[in-house]
Amino acid sequence: DYLTGQPASHKRKRQYRIGRHLGAGGFGEVKQATSLETGDEVAIKIIPKAKISDIPTQVTRQNSLATLVHPHIVHLREWFESRDKFYLVFELAAGGELYEHLIDVGRFGEEEAREVTYALVDAVAYLASRGVVHRDLKPENVLYRSPPGQNGAGHDDCVVSDFGLAVEIKPDQKLHVIAGSAGYSAPEMYSSDGYGFPADCWSLGVITFAMMGGRFPYRATIPTQIAEEARTTELYFPRTWEGVSEEAKDFIRKLLVVDPDHRMTAAEALHHPWLLAAKSRPASPD
Ligand code: ADP
Ligand code: MG
Repeated sequence: DYLTGQPASHKRKRQYRIGRHLGAGGFGEVKQATSLETGDEVAIKIIPKAKISDIPTQVTRQNSLATLVHPHIVHLREWFESRDKFYLVFELAAGGELYEHLIDVGRFGEEEAREVTYALVDAVAYLASRGVVHRDLKPENVLYRSPPGQNGAGHDDCVVSDFGLAVEIKPDQKLHVIAGSAGYSAPEMYSSDGYGFPADCWSLGVITFAMMGGRFPYRATIPTQIAEEARTTELYFPRTWEGVSEEAKDFIRKLLVVDPDHRMTAAEALHHPWLLAAKSRPASPD
């Protein structure tokens, strides 16, 4: 099975040999492929245009995603289109979803969680500096480049993926359209005030809690009720958290602040003692 893209704007012909199915979701299918030009293994997300309500916005999103370059953001190598589909060619992240690894082990130890969190916070700080709100941060959309725990691979070789809901905004611009996934979306998304960059930081707080706690931080499952619970009850760390450091809990509490104006930003989170402890860790001897 071969795939050829020839958009009018590019004279170069690109060919990929399509391989196995990697994943599917709301917007189409992701397949592994081999670039016949470079021999590289890639992941191609195939999006039927019929599923996209606003094609120009999608094109802007794809062009802007292609300019994002960060060690913890999945790299969009190129994209092209046919009459009825978009083809997004990403670097292959072959190590599986954070979600799958978390389900496998139940919960992560503090060190593993810290490695993932540092990578995600670094990525989100970069996104904010570029004016991008991801809006769908969750363990399903964090991918490992290689399976953690195998051949010495750590938990830090992971990337933020799935920019299907990402938008570029101005520093003080507010968004009002509800987007994202129940359980991870910020309370202000359901208020009339609108939301912006801090919404991604709330999701980071939920992910960090979920990694070490093995469950969501709130009992409610409906977004408006989660928002209500977050507003009215103090964040509770059950007994399974007994061995976890106070710094880790403080880090999560500062992200799961209901008022987005008082929530820790990603840039601030990078300097939180919990993450700084990771940086000062001695390199593993080899
Ligand atoms: P959706 O918008 O449908 O959720 P995603 O971009 O999240 O689409 O892709 C769906 C799934 O496909 C991911 O959860 C992941 O398992 C797999 N996938 C996506 N991108 C890659 C990639 N670059 N490398 C490997 N697998 C990927
Ligand atoms: Mg996804």
